[in-house]
Formats: sequence, C-alpha cells, structure tokens
Amino acid sequence: MHDFQSLGLSEQLLLAVEQEGYTTPTPVQSQSIPPLLDGRDVLGVAQTGTGKTAAFALPVLQVMSRKKQHGARHIRALVLSPTRELAAQIDERFSAYSEHLDIRHKVIFGGVNQNPQVRALQKGIDVLVATPGRLLDLIGQGHIDLGRVEFFVLDEADQMLDMGFIRDIKKVLNLLPKQRQNLLFSATMPKSIADLAASFLHNAVKVDVSPEEVTVDRIAQKIMFVRKADKRRLIVKIIKQEKVSKGIVFTRTKHGANRLVKQLAQSGINAAAIHGNKSQSARTKALASFKKGDIKMLVATDIASRGIDVNDITHVFNYDLPNEPESYVHRIGRTARAGKSGIAYGFCDDTESGYLVGIQQLIGFDIDVDDTHEFHFIGAIPKPNQKPGKIKSATSGNSKNNSNPNKNKRRSSQRQSRPQQSNQKSSNRNSNRQRPSNKRRNRNRSRNNQN
Ligand code: AMP
Repeated sequence: MHDFQSLGLSEQLLLAVEQEGYTTPTPVQSQSIPPLLDGRDVLGVAQTGTGKTAAFALPVLQVMSRKKQHGARHIRALVLSPTRELAAQIDERFSAYSEHLDIRHKVIFGGVNQNPQVRALQKGIDVLVATPGRLLDLIGQGHIDLGRVEFFVLDEADQMLDMGFIRDIKKVLNLLPKQRQNLLFSATMPKSIADLAASFLHNAVKVDVSPEEVTVDRIAQKIMFVRKADKRRLIVKIIKQEKVSKGIVFTRTKHGANRLVKQLAQSGINAAAIHGNKSQSARTKALASFKKGDIKMLVATDIASRGIDVNDITHVFNYDLPNEPESYVHRIGRTARAGKSGIAYGFCDDTESGYLVGIQQLIGFDIDVDDTHEFHFIGAIPKPNQKPGKIKSATSGNSKNNSNPNKNKRRSSQRQSRPQQSNQKSSNRNSNRQRPSNKRRNRNRSRNNQN
C-alpha cells in the first residue's frame, strides 16, 4: 500500500497532510497524484467523500510551487465547481493543504456581494475556485484573466451538466490557454461526460473508484411504505424515537423543504432548509449550525446537498424518493462517513413505488422493508412486475450496473448478513482518520476497482 511519501509529495505538503490527520492516501489519491505530478491529464470517476479534493489539490499545489513565478501573481489554477457549498469546501481544503506554501487562493460564487471577491482578485491569486455563473460574470467585467492558467479542474462534471452549465463550461474552455493540464472528476460517467472529457482532456489517465457500490452495500437501509399524508408524522416519530442528533432529510422540492422545516418546528424539532432559493448567507449559517449541532435536521433538495461534507450524519431520510435512482445513491452516501454508523430511511408512498423499483434495479437488491410502524400502507408496495418509474436515460448510470453482471449476485449474497452486520460495517466505512478503517476501505475499494 502507498503512503503519502511514496507518492512523491513535497515536505510542505506531507506536513500539511499530516496535520490534517491523514495517514494513508485514499485510492483516488494514490492513483491520481503520481500521474498529475508527471504532468498528465486525469479523468477521475469519484464522488465526494473519496478524498478527491486532495487528489487534485495536492499535486496542483506541488507543481505550482515547484515552478516559481516571477512578477505579479496571476491565476495559475482554475477549479470549477457546480455549487457554492462545494466550491467553498474545495477552497477550504486548499487553505489546509497550502498552509506551508506561498500560494494564494480564493473562492468566488454568486449570491453574495462581488466586491470582496474583486478586491481579492485585484491583490493577485494563484488558485481560483469558482462556480460558473460568477466566474463568467467577473470575466465579463474584466476582473479575471484566464490567459495564463496552467491547471484546469472540472469537478462534479455530471452535476455541472445536470445543472445546465455545459455552455458556460465551453465558454470557459475557450478562454484558457491551449497549453495546460486538465482534470475532470465526476461521480458517474454517462456518455455526455465521456464526450465532454474527450473534448478537452489529452491522453488522460483514467482513475475509477466508483464508490457507489461500496456505499449502498454498507449503509443500513430501510424502506417504509406510507401514505403521503402520514409522512410527516412518521418522520417525527422516528426522529424522536431514535433521538436523531444529526440527520438530513431529502425532499423533492424547495417548497416541500420549507414546509417540512416548519412542520418539524411545530413538533419541537430544530431544522433548517438548504436549497437553491436560500441566500448564500442563510445556507452558510444553516450548515454551520448543523455542523455545531444547534440544528438537528437539515432539509435539503438534491442540488443543495451535493458535496456537503459533514462527517457525523447518522440518519438520512428520503422523505420523497428521488425519481432519479442515482440520486438515491448520492443521498444515502451522506451518512456513514468518517467511521460513524448510519441508517437511511426511504419513505415510499403510492405515487413513488415505480421510483423504488428503479432504485432497487440500480443498486441490485431489494431494500429491507420496515412494516412495523403504525403508518404502514400496503397500497404503496410495488406491484409484481411493476416497471421502474421515470428514469433519465443519460445520467441514470445504469450502464454501470450493466457493466458488472456479477454485481447483483454478489450483492444478494451480502444481503444475507444485513442489517446488523451492515450497520457494523458502515461504522467502519470511510473512517478518514483511523488507519484500520482506511485499510478496510481501501481494500474494499480496490476490490471494486477490479470489477
Ligand atoms: P473529499 O472527497 O475530497 O470531499 O474528501 C472527503 C473527506 O475526506 C474530507 O473531510 C477530507 O478532509 C478527508 N480526507 C481526504 N483524504 C484523506 C485521507 N487520505 N485520509 C483521511 N481523510 C481524508
């Protein structure tokens, strides 16, 4: 197994990594860092939680500090990220990793006053982390020049396309110098992303740590069939019964998220909504209170939740089942991180049975049903031979499922031992700071890589 030294990182970066408490590189790190240090382009299939930020930030920082620049600072690395939260988290990682380097970085995103961002840009920065809208805005106003960028990182590319950023990405690409190093990271690799990657990566090294299959196998999951009108009472009951201290609830709409926050408050449960209509300061505040534990429940829509890096979430509620099976996998991946155990509850009403069928097809097994609650509603159980609900063909990721004919078999055999054992296993998953857990995680991931 690799350690950070053997990946060729400099003393300053090794020190920063050590201060972060990392002992062993994650698979995406040990596979991406050496080729990136060699100047290669990298195409990474990895989602948040795999350590992908360090996988690109560390080598970018190292190469940048190796090639000292003279004269005024200018943007040498551009990281594009789909959401403000993710952009802020990436920037925060750059702070940690560049602690012992003379590198200045800045994050810019919309929804906040641009003046502080402009002032920072005017002082000169080396690394710019940005969401596409604000980036193009400030380029349009003449505050940003991308003409000397040496590294271009496109993060969460699938999410970028889902959010309709493809034209913005192409505009940005046109402003970059031809000679540069490129990195693209995406949780899934549908054809649209493969095509985008082919359009600007050169002879890229492909790194695939697709963690979804590990994730779903190792998180305890339960489905509860329930009438739509009873979902609220059901969730309140579970939150109280299980004394949930840190949970995320997913709703389909922003309106639904707001409504549920109010309803939870009426039952004495402190919650906050996080979605695209909330101002940046409200989102930042909600996330901070949640991390601190002042707010027990975060009620989120998919887009806002993506990339939220809170390590000790114990419960994920799919209050509305997603109509896109991939989203289910991303959502439940919010729990059981960093060595904590977690459970994911899915509420399925009679309009959502088809979605459940689609989700179970994607993950390759039937999720255990909890029918012991007072709201159990048989009318929501999928009919035999029921067809999956609406599935977006381009991004559903079904190709992944199809690519491994043995996967379903393996999953079914693993199912025998759940849920007890899976809870146990999930408590060991993604332990970012404990050596044994990392080993276990790496072993599992590399097992998956071989598939
Ligand atoms: P990311 O996938 O980049 O969002 O990282 C997920 C989390 O893992 C972050 O909290 C990182 O600080 C942490 N992390 C990244 N690399 C390692 C590592 N090698 N060992 C332990 N934790 C890590």
